[in-house]
Order: sequence, then C-alpha cells, then structure tokens
Amino acid sequence: RFITFEGIDGAGKSTHIASVSQRLRERGAEVLNTREPGGTPLAESLRALFLHSSMDGLTEALLVFAGRRDHLRQVIVPALAAGKTVVCDRFTDASFAYQGAGRGMDLAVLATLEQWVQEGRQPDLTFWFDLPAEVAAQRRAAAREADRFEQQDLEFFERVRAGYAARAAAAPQRFARIDASLSVAEVAAQIAAHLEARGC
Ligand code: C5P
Repeated sequence: RFITFEGIDGAGKSTHIASVSQRLRERGAEVLNTREPGGTPLAESLRALFLHSSMDGLTEALLVFAGRRDHLRQVIVPALAAGKTVVCDRFTDASFAYQGAGRGMDLAVLATLEQWVQEGRQPDLTFWFDLPAEVAAQRRAAAREADRFEQQDLEFFERVRAGYAARAAAAPQRFARIDASLSVAEVAAQIAAHLEARGC
C-alpha cells in the first residue's frame, strides 16, 4: 500500500503521520516513512535547492519531479514490491496544488510530467488535511521556523487549498478529506474511521 499525506503548510500532517504509521505497524504492516520533496540523497539535495533558492514555477516543478523519479525508483517502488506500506509526506498532489494552483503553472504540463515520471503509478490512499489558510497561518505563527514558502500570503495558500480540492474532486476514491481545523483527537478519529473503512 502507498499512502500519502497532503495539505497546506500548518495543516498538522506530521503528528498524524507518526500515529498512523504506528497504528499500521501494530497491525502487522512493515511501514516505510518517507517524504517529498526528498526521500533519497539525490532528491534531498534537490529539496535543499528548491527550498532555499528563488525560481519560477516550472523550474520548481522540474526539480520536484526529478527528485520524485529518483524517489520512486530507489525507494517507493522497491518497498511496495517487497510488500511494505509506504507512508509519504506529500507527493504529486502537492505539485498540482503548489506549482499548479499556487504558482500558476500549466496543469497540462504537470499532467505530462506526472505521466512520464510515474508511468501510471498513483498512491492508493491520500489523506488531504483541509483547513482555511487563515487557521493554518495562525498555527505556523505559533510554531516553527519559516522557509521561503511559509512567508507566502493567505491568497497563495487559498489557491493551493483550491488546487488540492480540484485534485480530490478528480480522484474521489483515492482521497480522504480530513477536516484539519479540528483538534488533534478529532482529526485522529477521522483518520481512524477512513482506515477502518478500508480495512487497515
Ligand atoms: O511538507 P514540507 O514542509 O516538508 O515542504 C517543504 C516546503 O515546500 C513547504 O513549505 C511546502 O509548502 C513546499 N512545497 C512546494 N511544492 C511542493 C512540495 C512542497 O512548494 N510540490
């Protein structure tokens, strides 16, 4: 199984990625935790460039998809073939949401990159942590250091949010929308309900 977590910055994915992984392990799965951008030495190097240099949306997308190709070949596909459950913090939906909806990149170009890089492979389940950009901004302000993206304005994050909504509408079986504006316990309960409904 290939499970991804998505949402705007400050949605609260990290806490739940840890607890979902633990739950899956307790039920006998061998879980591999990974993330994007990144997940291999090469892709982590690309991530560092991506996070700390200014570039246009197409350059961002090319770097992220290059890293994704390496990540799939070196890590994700071999782990799935070995029967592991792969839990990935962000994947291609983030490219459509951030580079596409957020930065205005042509979605058809992204779809072409997706096809080339993934050759039809998609996550089996995607938890989309949905919440208003304003609530997410308050959480970010209360928390950690900001990279260049976290300084973006609310309009940017509302566009990214809408980008996720469009991807979710186009793949309703794959997407599980989580109301991430709720408490940690309520979010955990929503996730557990989705996992139970899918027998995991
Ligand atoms: O999820 P994580 O915090 O590791 O992502 C690092 C940064 O890269 C975030 O600010 C995220 O918004 C941004 N990002 C992006 N485009 C992607 C993936 C992540 O702009 N495709």
